Amino acid sequence: MNQQQIRKFRKRLIGWYRENRRDLPWRKTNDPYCIWISEVMLQQTRVETVVPYYQRFLQCFPDLPSLARSDLEAVLKAWEGLGYYARARNLHRAAGIVIAEHQGVVPQDPDLFGKLPGVGVYIRAAVTSIAFDKPLPAVDGNVKRVLARLMKIGEPVNRSSFHRSFTAAAQQLLDRRQPGTYNQAMMELGALICMPGQPDCPRCPVRSFCSAFKENGVDRYPVRLRSEPVPEYRIAVGVVCRNNRVLITRRKNEGLLGGLWEFPGGKIGPREDPEAACIREIKEEVNLHVEVMAHLSRVKHAYTHFKIVMDVYRCRYLGGRVKLSGPVDYRWIRLEEIDRFAFPKANHKFFPMLRKVGCR
Ligand code: SF4
Repeated sequence: MNQQQIRKFRKRLIGWYRENRRDLPWRKTNDPYCIWISEVMLQQTRVETVVPYYQRFLQCFPDLPSLARSDLEAVLKAWEGLGYYARARNLHRAAGIVIAEHQGVVPQDPDLFGKLPGVGVYIRAAVTSIAFDKPLPAVDGNVKRVLARLMKIGEPVNRSSFHRSFTAAAQQLLDRRQPGTYNQAMMELGALICMPGQPDCPRCPVRSFCSAFKENGVDRYPVRLRSEPVPEYRIAVGVVCRNNRVLITRRKNEGLLGGLWEFPGGKIGPREDPEAACIREIKEEVNLHVEVMAHLSRVKHAYTHFKIVMDVYRCRYLGGRVKLSGPVDYRWIRLEEIDRFAFPKANHKFFPMLRKVGCR
């Protein structure tokens, strides 16, 4: 596209966006804190999933000081089920830094904002363009797909080493006078019209600018390289029952599920019996002797880079005092108290069965 076409493209795109954009809660505010929360939640997560989380999160932490003041555990509880828990931990840390080092005001300067925990290239561009009109292109998976089709970019969208090509294309098209609106318009086009499987080209406001459409080659873009199959791990977990209470442990504040509560357990060895693995893991992790009473449930769960098959056992406490190796905290709780703690989604899958059989 030449400069004149690019200007027309922006006008058409933004005009369409103003008419057709979805009425989403984060679009009704100019508060950079709220925009930041929404963009962090929206990474790799569907809009319909995010809306109730966003609303609940802002009820719990309506502004940046309230988030900074709160316990990490309360933040994780509000985030529970949304996944990618490092995002919640980073937001909490970043809020503390904004209070301590920026007088409680979200930095407008993209370089300063970009130094906060969890603020990568995409979040930096999305938040500072939408909240402060900074001229940075926000390039997520949706936008890459649209760019690949519009400009016939043949480099794979799912390899970070080619990200630069997409950023360069996005820079070229960006409307520097209204970058926040432009970025949101591109994302909305990707979400509503230029969708992954079946783009709705007949309804597309920018089809006259789209190289792939003009050449009848929409199905060839974007190019994706085949991903490695994700590994599957077998896990054994024990619900240790003692005096009508069960033992839960808290993971350290790092990694995929850092800071969340869970039941003790771990990977089953290559030729290991799952019940034996459960007893061994409980001994290694919390230093208790237990015996398996019954198999409670088998849970399958997929994370981004691996899958698990988790066998859950009800176990009887036999002896020993809790000594932690790995987890950083523990509690003996009644089952009625379980909702006060944040657990990974895979654990929630066996809670109904656990509630039914109890911990006697
Ligand atoms: Fe996407 Fe089709 Fe529009 Fe091109 S014409 S941008 S492929 S929806």
